[in-house]
Amino acid sequence: QEDLFKNVVSHAKEYGFIFPSSEIYDGLSAVYDYAQNGVELKKNIREYWWKSMVQMNENIVGLDAAILMHPTTWKASGHVDAFNDPLIDNKDSKRRYRADVLIEDYAEKLNIKAKKEIEKAKVRFGEAFNEQEFITTNPRVVEYLAKEREILERMGRSLGNGDLEDVKALIEELEIACPESGSRNWTEVRQFNLMFGTKLGASADTAMDLYLRPETAQGIFVNFLNVQKSGRMKVPFGIAQTGKAFRNEIVARQFIFRMREFEQMEMQFFVRPGEEMQWYEHWKATRLKWHLSLGLGAERYRFHDHEKLAHYANAAADIEFEFPFGFKELEGIHSRTDFDLKAHEEYSGRKLQYFDAELNQNYVPYVVETSVGLDRMFLAVFATSLKEETLEDGSTRTVLKLPAVLAPTKAAILPLVKKDGLPEIAKQIIEDLRWDFNVSYDEKDAVGRRYRRQDALGTPFCITVDHQTAEDQTVTIRHRDTMKQDRVAIADLKAIIENEVSM
Ligand code: ATP
Repeated sequence: QEDLFKNVVSHAKEYGFIFPSSEIYDGLSAVYDYAQNGVELKKNIREYWWKSMVQMNENIVGLDAAILMHPTTWKASGHVDAFNDPLIDNKDSKRRYRADVLIEDYAEKLNIKAKKEIEKAKVRFGEAFNEQEFITTNPRVVEYLAKEREILERMGRSLGNGDLEDVKALIEELEIACPESGSRNWTEVRQFNLMFGTKLGASADTAMDLYLRPETAQGIFVNFLNVQKSGRMKVPFGIAQTGKAFRNEIVARQFIFRMREFEQMEMQFFVRPGEEMQWYEHWKATRLKWHLSLGLGAERYRFHDHEKLAHYANAAADIEFEFPFGFKELEGIHSRTDFDLKAHEEYSGRKLQYFDAELNQNYVPYVVETSVGLDRMFLAVFATSLKEETLEDGSTRTVLKLPAVLAPTKAAILPLVKKDGLPEIAKQIIEDLRWDFNVSYDEKDAVGRRYRRQDALGTPFCITVDHQTAEDQTVTIRHRDTMKQDRVAIADLKAIIENEVSM
């Protein structure tokens, strides 16, 4: 699995998807740049989200709020006081950890131990195996799972109460329970605010302290009434936004999974008070369906319902995805109550109420939010699509089996040879297709090598122009995943590609 992940990182660099930021200066930790192919894939994921949320829903509209906001925003939202991560250092290894992530890693270890027992038993008992019964009766499995639950519950309670000493004690206990993990020399747990500060204004005494937004959601809340009035929106309705967010993450690791500058795709859905739970369930189901529509495999997704809730929420769940390093949060769905709008009313002194004509009543709407990281989506799609295949003749190929709708380039047009007028025909095909699709031209190297290169880039179609093309206006079209080739008329290319790559 570690190897797989290394491959993902090196493939992303070698094929122009992702580079470390400011690499000539040795990079900047947990900051990355999207390269010529990455920017296309990222844009396509963003569009796929935007279409399904905004274009397909009459009652959801878009917004592009500024990254810089009035600093009181972050007082009201709770970020100044509570957007902290618990941080702990190990004195021996000199490594710094997010205490909650460290504890979750231990919990995951227990879960893996339980799974191994189950797998072993499956093999041993064969047909007769009853998994549910085994999980509830096998003492080792029962013990692992109970311990896992207890750890997470205790962490939730301790962090919820701000009891950092207990968090530390829990880590020390876990170190003893998992002796394979080594040292036990920890510092106190400290709270660390994740917001990046900056300044507005030139002169030192009048400059105003600002923050780079740590989430896009607040830009939506402060604009709630502007959008509702100018768009004559009726509750229930949603506001969707994609954009950069910044967090000074303590431990930024796992490539683009946890970055200091990243992009979110968020939608805040405003509903009648009391109807939030039904909308929460609705959006949980709808968002999972969206993920499944990409075809990466249903077994790679699972819900994680939160027991420990943030200060603003009355229900919350993550959609977790199986990344190369295990199941981790990909998207959050939160029932945020009226916390945000009420807080902004309080801090701004402005009313943020909605008049519900049907009920003949004024109220502050409740909010159900869906929030997915664009970069995490990118990693999910990219890592899952990257395959090493052994072919029938024993040779291997690297292929990026991206969902065609997301592929950076939809078709590569390849003249078989660089002469006999074939490049000219290929370029004419490009001219005809480029209005509808991102297409590319390649004439370098033998055609087999060009196919491999397009496989590695995730291009769903290769269109080869050969001598027969000049005679009868047909080309071969090669499908990335099956490597099958068909002879088709140039005139039919557009429809064939369209059929595969449209949303
Ligand atoms: P985590 O627990 O992984 O730090 P979170 O619960 O703080 O995430 P939210 O505040 O719910 O995350 O943000 C919503 C989404 O934004 C997450 O599901 C994730 O996809 C994305 N996201 C959050 N932090 C980062 C980050 N540092 N880098 C990349 N994506 C992120």
